[in-house]
Amino acid sequence: MFSDGAIVAQASAHGTARRGIIRLSGDSILNAVAPFFLRKEKSSDSFPPAIPANQNCQGRIVEDTSKTAIIDGWFAPWGTSEPDLVVPCALFYWPKGRGFTGEQAVELHLPGSPPILDAVARTICETKFARLATRGEFTLRAFLSGRIDLTQAEAVLGAIDASSDAELQTALAQLSGMLSREFSNLREKLMDVLCDLEAGFDFVEEDIEFVAKTEIKARLLEIKARVEKTLERTKTQLGADRIPIVALVGSPNVGKSSLFNKMLEFFGDGSSSKAIVSNLAGTTRDYLEKELLIDGMRFILVDSAGVENREAFKDVADSLPRERAQQGLIRLFANAEIIVKCDDPTSKSNSREELVKNIIPSNTPLICVTTKQDLSDHPESVGNENIPTSSVTGFGIEQLGKRIVETLRKYSENGEMTASTAIRCQDALREAAESLQNALNILDDDIFLDDFILASEIRVALDRIGIVTGQVHTDDLLDRIFSRFCIGK
Ligand code: GDP
Repeated sequence: MFSDGAIVAQASAHGTARRGIIRLSGDSILNAVAPFFLRKEKSSDSFPPAIPANQNCQGRIVEDTSKTAIIDGWFAPWGTSEPDLVVPCALFYWPKGRGFTGEQAVELHLPGSPPILDAVARTICETKFARLATRGEFTLRAFLSGRIDLTQAEAVLGAIDASSDAELQTALAQLSGMLSREFSNLREKLMDVLCDLEAGFDFVEEDIEFVAKTEIKARLLEIKARVEKTLERTKTQLGADRIPIVALVGSPNVGKSSLFNKMLEFFGDGSSSKAIVSNLAGTTRDYLEKELLIDGMRFILVDSAGVENREAFKDVADSLPRERAQQGLIRLFANAEIIVKCDDPTSKSNSREELVKNIIPSNTPLICVTTKQDLSDHPESVGNENIPTSSVTGFGIEQLGKRIVETLRKYSENGEMTASTAIRCQDALREAAESLQNALNILDDDIFLDDFILASEIRVALDRIGIVTGQVHTDDLLDRIFSRFCIGK
């Protein structure tokens, strides 16, 4: 995976398109393209060009290889076997240290016909100056040359795989280095503490305190709080691997199923009759769910009515099905990113109000909705927090959709981390927080306070944060991350 040499691959999406891109990276790339690239000398050069495409003309491609360049010309995809068969080609050149990979890089922008792009890559490989890139090798080289860290490499994949605006924004924020800066700042702070501690090692015999222990403790406490906050973010991350759940909750007959159907009618793709009936884990009862996409935000709307109307809230004390169904409901609500709590102001008794309240987790964002607005005495009244809706007239449905999207956005913006990074980082961050806690315990222990053990705990924390960004890595880890990329990225 880490072999040297120049590499080449198609960087644009496979399939027919107006334009296709062949990307090269490495030291000998100009030699690899030179025999087949013909520079357009004047903007008026007409097709086909006058110069035959069968000689090494590297000198003519890039005059000053220390500067970036865009050169218009022609390319002979079939090389010396068909030197006169050429296609228009714009060549983009980046010197070492300027392109994405950190190496000398070239992109050939060609007509996006698959046979042409295949032929170009094959012809370039035949020169032996470049070979076909492996999966994610361009991004791997960017990482190995220090252009990006591992969280940014994962963000490249996150951007490619994004299935909604929110996921794309998260990936782009991570790619821009938001997360990298946070981790590198944490590492610097830990490094400073370590340096101060180690500077004091020379004076251990003299019993001189180089930096006050109270100061070290305050600095470690701050770092630990930040590590824990980031760890928390990894847990609440809404990412590519999980679509957020929005659950409709309320007493029986409050109008949840009607609201569910109205939402599908309003925002669905017309396949509302295909609502899936899923088995709820831990119970044999069913509930309805449907994936919706509003304003680029994807989520699963769940109608829990099916559960509660059957067994969950049945007044059969201590019966096993009821218990199991309730546990399933509790788990469903605990997993939900948003609870939409439905109340029917026209009903005198919301029979299960207390029960419903008790199983809604206190830390889950709540959207309050009143149903059956068409029957209400004050049809237009809009409470500050309450959204009045009617499944008969469609009143308030659009507003409810907007509120769901706003709440999901707010929630996912706390993340700024792609799901794959969140999953990979959790253990490392947990261990970093543990080591910092150990260090703080040592500082609190006046009798057995040992600066050497204290420093070793800080080193462990540094090492774990380094795993997140990739300063500390194994070939196996890189292999696992980059093998998920496609060739050309
Ligand atoms: P669920 O048990 O909470 O799912 O409630 P349903 O959706 O089954 O509705 C209970 C009853 O209220 C049904 O008879 C519905 O027709 C009625 N209902 C629901 N929403 C509305 C509404 O917006 N306006 C009116 N007038 N009736 C509604």
